[in-house]
Amino acid sequence: MIALTDLGAPDIDKGRDSFLWRNASGVFCPTFSSKETWEQLRTHSPQVPWADVVWFKEHVPRFSFITWLAILARLPTRDRLRRWGMNIPATCVLCSTRDESHEHLFFQCSFSSEIWVFLAAKFLPNPPDSLAAASSWILHHSLPMNAKVITILKLLLQSVVYHTWKERNLRIFTAVESTTSVTRLAVDRTMRNRLLSFPGSALNSPSLLQIYFSRLSFPM
Ligand SMILES: [Zn+2]
Repeated sequence: MIALTDLGAPDIDKGRDSFLWRNASGVFCPTFSSKETWEQLRTHSPQVPWADVVWFKEHVPRFSFITWLAILARLPTRDRLRRWGMNIPATCVLCSTRDESHEHLFFQCSFSSEIWVFLAAKFLPNPPDSLAAASSWILHHSLPMNAKVITILKLLLQSVVYHTWKERNLRIFTAVESTTSVTRLAVDRTMRNRLLSFPGSALNSPSLLQIYFSRLSFPM
């Protein structure tokens, strides 16, 4: 409105009216950019340290979504449900020895920890037992590491989180149980299926699946 007071009255001799859009640097442009507009409207926050572990090119969207919620501690775990007033048991349905919480499920629980440590240790020694520490471990390890191995570890972390949460839900809602070995094989199958869709780029460059196979000794 202040700008309008500085403008002269419309005059046909100065040309026809036209729409202009002001971009982030204050320059008026004839084209509208939804990206530019969104960047001006949204609140910018610093990038969280685990962002690259949750969102990356080879990710599986439903795995990333569950992992994102798990890292933010926003899954409806039993400790949260009880805090909201629900009258339900507190015990973890996977191990029956501790109360269920995000910290416990990912990965202090003997069930999920066994799967995570078994598979992740094939790529890097001493996998940590918390999501935050695991993210940092993948991104900031001290060993010289192929970028493809990092991608495999990100997918593996998400796959274990997803299958742990799925198994927890199956036990609660369907009373069907899978053993640690069966769930580990499900994680392994998921990994192979996903990695299969990324072929190697050159003759001397192994594919993600070839690297995965080279690290895992069989039988599992
Ligand atoms: Zn447990």
